[in-house]
Amino acid sequence: MIKIIDINFQNQKSAVGCFLIKKDKNIVLIETGPSLYYNKIKTSLEEINIDIDEIKYVLVTHIHLDHSGGAWKFAKNGAKIYVHPLGAPHLENPEKLIASASKIYGDKMDQLWGKVDNIDANNIISVDHNETINIGNIEIKALHTPGHANHHIAWKYEHNIFTGDIAGAKIDDGPVLPACPPPDIDLVKWEQSLDIIKKHKPKRLYLTHFGKHENISNHIQELKQELKVWSYWIKEKKDKILDNPSLVNEFNKFVYNNMKIKKIEDKLIHQYFAANPPYMSVSGLKRYWEKYG
Ligand SMILES: [Zn+2]
Repeated sequence: MIKIIDINFQNQKSAVGCFLIKKDKNIVLIETGPSLYYNKIKTSLEEINIDIDEIKYVLVTHIHLDHSGGAWKFAKNGAKIYVHPLGAPHLENPEKLIASASKIYGDKMDQLWGKVDNIDANNIISVDHNETINIGNIEIKALHTPGHANHHIAWKYEHNIFTGDIAGAKIDDGPVLPACPPPDIDLVKWEQSLDIIKKHKPKRLYLTHFGKHENISNHIQELKQELKVWSYWIKEKKDKILDNPSLVNEFNKFVYNNMKIKKIEDKLIHQYFAANPPYMSVSGLKRYWEKYG
């Protein structure tokens, strides 16, 4: 059984999710959301008669705070946290992670994420590419999938892949859109990672932003296309619009148009923007072109 848990991030439905796998008595949680939403997960689990303290195995796709900001709370209850080797040091010592997130989110840190605490090294398990982990009779394979973040893992379970951010965001019937925050965006690696996902022929993708999607080859095609469109838009505009707020403004408009949404007050916009604020992608893609352009 796979349960999708909607944490209702910033009061938006279907913006940020976590996933519970249950097979007989074995339980695995994939993603934790920010620590601020721990109680939201607790309530969701109670609906299916699971006590949050029973969660002893947590897999995170990467260490961005919307995906694993709450992992330390589970670790305090004795859970093992499975993560990419490059992400592990940042769970143990989150100072750098907090500092770089503070650069992006400024004084909104607490309001967005809540506290970020360190995780004892004994509770952190680094997982290699193609490594299989067994939690009772639950077998999960790690697919290292850089592009959005260097330390990104997509987790494969049976015919499902939990894609974190590597398969982009698709909320309800909205478009497939990438999230390109600094500092690791790499469009070449991203494309290769999407090919890894495809190669495994999953029947379902579970997106942290958000939920289950089954039309996989179209999904991946749409994302690849959108990554090109976004990145070339930034490449072209970044030298013409030098002042950052104007560039972000223009990019917002471009994204609205691109989403084929007529009214700015459309609720889908709020859901997408809560999950992946476009200004992050402006700085992430600018940085990419400055590095590799
Ligand atoms: Zn994310």
